[in-house]
Amino acid sequence: MGVFLLQTLPVSTPLFPFDNRFALLDGLSLPWQPAPVPAPRWLRFNHGLAQELGLDGARLGSEEGLAVLAGNRVPDGAQPVAQAYAGHQFGGFSPQLGDGRALLLGEILDPQGQRRDIAFKGSGRTPFSRGGDGKAAVGPVLREYLISEAMHALGIPTTRTLAAVATGETISRERPLPGAILTRVAASHIRVGSFQFFAARGDTDRLRVLADHAIERHDPSLAARDDRYLALLDAVSARQAKLVAQWMSVGFIHGVMNTDNMTVSGETIDYGPCAFLEAYDPGTVFSSIDTHGRYAFGNQPGIAQWNLTRLAEALLPLIDEDSDRAVLRATQVIEGFAQRFSSHWLKLHRAKLGLRDDGADDEEDRALVNELLGLMHAHKIDFTLGFRRLSAVLRGQPDALHAVWGQDAAALEGWRVRWQARVAASGEPAAETADRMDATNPIYIPRNHLVENALDAAVDDKDLRPFEKLLAIVTDPFSERSADARAALPGTPEQTFGYRTFCGT
Ligand code: AMP
Ligand code: MG
Repeated sequence: MGVFLLQTLPVSTPLFPFDNRFALLDGLSLPWQPAPVPAPRWLRFNHGLAQELGLDGARLGSEEGLAVLAGNRVPDGAQPVAQAYAGHQFGGFSPQLGDGRALLLGEILDPQGQRRDIAFKGSGRTPFSRGGDGKAAVGPVLREYLISEAMHALGIPTTRTLAAVATGETISRERPLPGAILTRVAASHIRVGSFQFFAARGDTDRLRVLADHAIERHDPSLAARDDRYLALLDAVSARQAKLVAQWMSVGFIHGVMNTDNMTVSGETIDYGPCAFLEAYDPGTVFSSIDTHGRYAFGNQPGIAQWNLTRLAEALLPLIDEDSDRAVLRATQVIEGFAQRFSSHWLKLHRAKLGLRDDGADDEEDRALVNELLGLMHAHKIDFTLGFRRLSAVLRGQPDALHAVWGQDAAALEGWRVRWQARVAASGEPAAETADRMDATNPIYIPRNHLVENALDAAVDDKDLRPFEKLLAIVTDPFSERSADARAALPGTPEQTFGYRTFCGT
């Protein structure tokens, strides 16, 4: 009888099979709970991501999951903590920032055995909230959902969004706004600023524990090396060089590259004021608070290197007992960043032009890319379509290029002839080159005016249809669909002029 009962009773499996490590590390976080919210409502649940994580999407996407992802019920096995970190914000150092509006629920192992953080954003005040309310608003939460998932679809390492729920609360910003909570999935939340937190306190023991944890998590092959902390710096530098080159190759502007917003995992994190370039201009800044253009599009590689230098400084006591030697070794790694970035950048931009690097002259190809960028800058050409429509030339449809360049198409002629000759010299059939280009140059990016329209509809009219439509478009960015033709177009000058983004996710 007892055996029979055991077989028929439903087995209560946890919603998240948590396996927490970070919460156990001393001094890195404080146990905390999400604040309850009055009236949770789904904005969106990401079934595809749930499946990828090996989670039960049917359950998690139900009422039971809603209560959990709104912070009203802490799931079994969770060990929610607010993480401590420091950081340079716009160049100025704050020894204590930390999760003021975020909460790490716990870690799970996905079906590939990769450790993933499950974290809330907007789940209420924490001991690190300072003056803030710990909340997030519907608009910025949906913005992060859209852009993070678009980045993933573009093949760029990023934190993901598992869910967005409205809380039924009204939060106070410049105007009253509906509140929301985002569930973020990340390879980890270890930031450059996490190391700075202990370095600033001279706490070398905990710094070492954190560095060992980061190595075990992201670079286990380095764990046995004597020079593992230098190797960690090197690995982070390599990942960031590639990441920022990928941003540059799609026109992504992060907007707030503070050291607390740079991961050691190499994932893009912290979708606040980010936005995509339209007309190409390396000086483009969208963020309302970036008054000096520190985080302008063209500055991103230099800022990444600056941030890595701050990581190097934090790690110095672990790199070598002799501080002069530590500085020397760390400097070599930091200097290597420029070369790494530049070779990723060239590889990605060659692919955008359909060029292969089989024995070609790097400097000639680099000049070819830069010359095109210079023309795009001078003639205010849309970055995305400027690249995407080049493939039409190879397919014998130069009108598509004219549609982007208009009156200025003549200015491109000399460049086009040289580029086509360079492509032809490779011997690859032009149609194949064109297909390769279309698989790397997106046709759909989250256009600023469309993002704003979708968020306005969601916030002002509680109409999520434009958001759903745009999400579907930007998460399938490479295959052109005639039904989505308008979504491929840049905003009108009125929509684009003076476009500003804000930090407050
Ligand atoms: P971020 O711009 O998201 O990188 O945030 C920078 C710092 O400000 C982090 O320590 C955040 O946790 C904190 N913060 C931002 N907004 C809020 C808020 N509404 N309430 C509390 N802390 C916040
Ligand atoms: Mg941040």
